Amino acid sequence: MTHLTEGERSRRSAATKRSAPRPRRRLRRPCLRCQQPFRSEGPHNRICPVCKETRSWTDWP
Ligand SMILES: [Zn+2]
Repeated sequence: MTHLTEGERSRRSAATKRSAPRPRRRLRRPCLRCQQPFRSEGPHNRICPVCKETRSWTDWP
């Protein structure tokens, strides 16, 4: 498992920001639990941060 140092990570995000001045690729998906649209980090991320904080979604069958 590779682990990026903090310096490498900040450098990487800075480069990304520079190459993409106006990132408008924010995917908004409805939360599977509360149906509230939120910024999804990807297909694996379907629960909004609010619901994740409750942690009750982990009790799903
Ligand atoms: Zn939610």
